[in-house]
Amino acid sequence: MAQQLVFEAPRAKLPPRHLADLDAQARAAAVAELGLPAFRAKQLAAQYYGRLIADPHEMTDLPAAVRDAIASALFPTLLSVAKEISCDAGQTRKTLWRAVNDPSGTTFESVLMRYPQRNTICISSQAGCGMACPFCATGQGGLTRNLSTAEILEQVRAGAVALRDDFGPTQCLSNVVFMGMGEPLANYARVLAAVQRITAAPPDGFGISARSVTVSTVGLAPAIRKLADERLGVTLALSLHAPDDELRDTLVPVNNRWTTSEALDAARYYGDVTGRRVSVEYALIRDVNDQPWRADLLAKRLHGALGPLAHINLIPLNPTAGSDWDASPKDTEREFVRRVRAKGVSCTVRDTRGREINAACGQLAAENN
Ligand code: SF4
Repeated sequence: MAQQLVFEAPRAKLPPRHLADLDAQARAAAVAELGLPAFRAKQLAAQYYGRLIADPHEMTDLPAAVRDAIASALFPTLLSVAKEISCDAGQTRKTLWRAVNDPSGTTFESVLMRYPQRNTICISSQAGCGMACPFCATGQGGLTRNLSTAEILEQVRAGAVALRDDFGPTQCLSNVVFMGMGEPLANYARVLAAVQRITAAPPDGFGISARSVTVSTVGLAPAIRKLADERLGVTLALSLHAPDDELRDTLVPVNNRWTTSEALDAARYYGDVTGRRVSVEYALIRDVNDQPWRADLLAKRLHGALGPLAHINLIPLNPTAGSDWDASPKDTEREFVRRVRAKGVSCTVRDTRGREINAACGQLAAENN
């Protein structure tokens, strides 16, 4: 039986307040509540975002007498590592996180990928997902809860720390993609705050270029337009997976709420407002959406809807254990790419990092459960 779409997260308790949940004004108020001078707020943010320290006991510029109070008020431990696996000769590392002090045993994942010219972290915005895409391990488990802004940012900080400590001080995080567990735009306010702090310069954020941050969505059209109006300059990735409503209704159930045309119109609006190219994600699935006529239709629709802003990113499906869904054969994939490009639409095939560690979103959590 088809799963229900879930837009509202269950009223599960979010973790305690953390410095990373707070903007500059709220940080100042929190420091005043502790009876500390205002400059401490900036100092704490500089330690967290600039030096990647989340334990006040390691912040040597804080008086020893106030460290305990600051730790309990603003730096609760939020995440613990439940499992960590690496592959690609150590260049890809996947972490299954467990939310600390969460009686429901909430888990979610991030993946750190090193490339010659960049270091990318793929992060989760929700524990589970309510969008019920049938080919996705996360979608099968349903939505547990939204992640807090700090839980999202802690994944980024942990990735930056791992790069610095394991690969040397010159190794920085250059790209952040919201393509892990969850639909980012269904946790809009917390994801927005996280993006603002990822892109703000220290001491207010990690200082990663907005152009190097990608927010992926399955097509929540009104939220795409809202995100465009924020003018953050981040890249939008629209997970289309089918060019026609008949197939998309089943592959991406949210299509029953906002059709392919509505999703593409919203993506066009995003491109027009931001001037950024829109990446259209297409998981290529054997005998499901990989037919030559669908390649032609995809190119035609994208050309019409997005014009020169269109870019297709084909994703060879990373099959989930026990599922009937499989990746398309390589010759089918090549023909699909050829046909799309022949119609003047730019098209690349995503590399398949982390296959042997179940790096597609939700696979490690599903295996763990
Ligand atoms: S593919 Fe993305 S939107 Fe769909 S169920 Fe999986 S995580 Fe959710």
